[in-house]
Amino acid sequence: MKNSPIRKVVIVGGGTAGWMAAAGLSRVLGALPGLSITLIESEAIGTVGVGEATIPQITAFNRLIGLDEMAFMRETRATYKLGIEFVDWLRPGHSYVHPFGSFGLDMLGIEFQHFWLRGRELGDTAAIDSYSIAAVAGKSGKFTWPQPDNRKSPLSKLSYAFQFDAGRYAKFLRGLSEQAGVRRVEGRVVEVLQHPESGFVTGLKLDDQTEVEGELFIDCSGFRSLLLGQTLGVPFNDWSRWLPCDSAVAIPCELGGANEPLTRSTARSAGWQWRIPLQHRIGNGHVFSSAHMDGEAATDMLLANLDGKPLAEPNRLSFTAGHRARAWEKNVVALGLAGGFLEPLESTSIHLVQSGIARLLSLFPDSGFSEVEIGRYNDETEREYVDIRDFLLLHYSATERDDSEFWRYCRNLEPTDGLAEKIEMFRSSGRIFREHNELFTEASWLSVMLSQGISPQRYHPAARLLDDAETLARLGNIRGAIRNTADQLPSQSDFLSERGGTI
Ligand code: FAD
Repeated sequence: MKNSPIRKVVIVGGGTAGWMAAAGLSRVLGALPGLSITLIESEAIGTVGVGEATIPQITAFNRLIGLDEMAFMRETRATYKLGIEFVDWLRPGHSYVHPFGSFGLDMLGIEFQHFWLRGRELGDTAAIDSYSIAAVAGKSGKFTWPQPDNRKSPLSKLSYAFQFDAGRYAKFLRGLSEQAGVRRVEGRVVEVLQHPESGFVTGLKLDDQTEVEGELFIDCSGFRSLLLGQTLGVPFNDWSRWLPCDSAVAIPCELGGANEPLTRSTARSAGWQWRIPLQHRIGNGHVFSSAHMDGEAATDMLLANLDGKPLAEPNRLSFTAGHRARAWEKNVVALGLAGGFLEPLESTSIHLVQSGIARLLSLFPDSGFSEVEIGRYNDETEREYVDIRDFLLLHYSATERDDSEFWRYCRNLEPTDGLAEKIEMFRSSGRIFREHNELFTEASWLSVMLSQGISPQRYHPAARLLDDAETLARLGNIRGAIRNTADQLPSQSDFLSERGGTI
């Protein structure tokens, strides 16, 4: 193990992962004496070309790298995202929003769902979505920033993310990174040089025969996993038995249809279709199981369900759900697709890049490589993948659909232990616990469990402390406050154009 300070960092790959790593590392560590960051990318190979929807944590990353929000919205043609609308997942004709932020307003110090359940018992039929400012504003095409300190306003419960053009995002980050001193090298890595005894990577040979030396290598080479997978042979944990979709076809189209700050996911007979409205176009894709539908049929289904004229040829992709057993091995850390991939149903991949960067920054090997720190990095990364896998699995297994082979397979999927326990707890008592600071909050679990047909048998006894009329009146007031607040918000287009973010 090397025990001297790490000064030469080399990033392989200039997709979203590579440029996010370059921007994050240069922002935080760029001023360390003698530290150099080099990024190698190959225009001939290109990037995966998808990955446009995000979750709220990205606002923290953008703040970290000092990004001006309106400049970012303009440059990446971004729109806001207040949640994901799931159409036909429980059964055809049913839809719900998994909103960002939380539900209701504070009531007697216990979680809001218990009052909602009590209200149901008393005959209140309003869906849980109507208690979410993000869902109500999102469905009305409205947007504003949250007001976390205004505790009496529904806007204190709002949270948001972005939908952007991934190619433009990478370009934008490249500009910031180069300004911060990152050196970009254009070329194709044709050989990986390793120390003969330790196996540590020492350098990369490019197609023009130049060599780039380094001490810490960040593998952002995409599905190829050039350093971690191909060179160091770290095995892949295959999770396709829980997440059977293994293919996608993507295509952008002209703007058309609704212009809401929401990503839409519509269940199809062998998978689902995404719709991500940006300022200048809509990103669309069909994620499917190749065991249940062939690529041609999947492409036809996608093309038959676009809101505007296609703007490119369909882009077909194959993948396996899962992750590399260790994200950090020797002196190589993999970020992005090089480290693993879970389908984009909850837009989590870019977040995994972000959290990997944050973890690497806090465990940066400033005085050499330590097994205990590498172990920590790997354990936390795996934990995060497991949590996300379980949340995705919930969407497939909690369904009433039995109208195709694919859905019959999904509804019979055996939940993992962690998921089974969460469902059991919720079904029996309406309680939800957020384990070890996991990515998805209680509100997210609540939204998907309730909306996909898991009904609690009980609720917290404190929800009976208010009398019946008071309970119904309070619920009605909360719904009214959320509706009124949403009605008064500007449309997303006005919000952006008034601040120079364009539309
Ligand atoms: P890539 O974009 O593939 O970049 C790899 C880079 O490595 C490229 O620059 C390439 O040129 C370079 N490279 C490779 N080999 C070499 C070599 N030998 N020499 C030099 N350079 C090399 N994520 C989300 O968060 N939200 C979404 O909505 C979302 N949707 C998705 C939909 C699909 C169908 C798929 C497959 C993924 C989706 N993702 C989504 C994931 C997201 O696209 C990726 O996490 C993100 O783009 C990061 O990709 P990457 O940078 O790891 O890989």
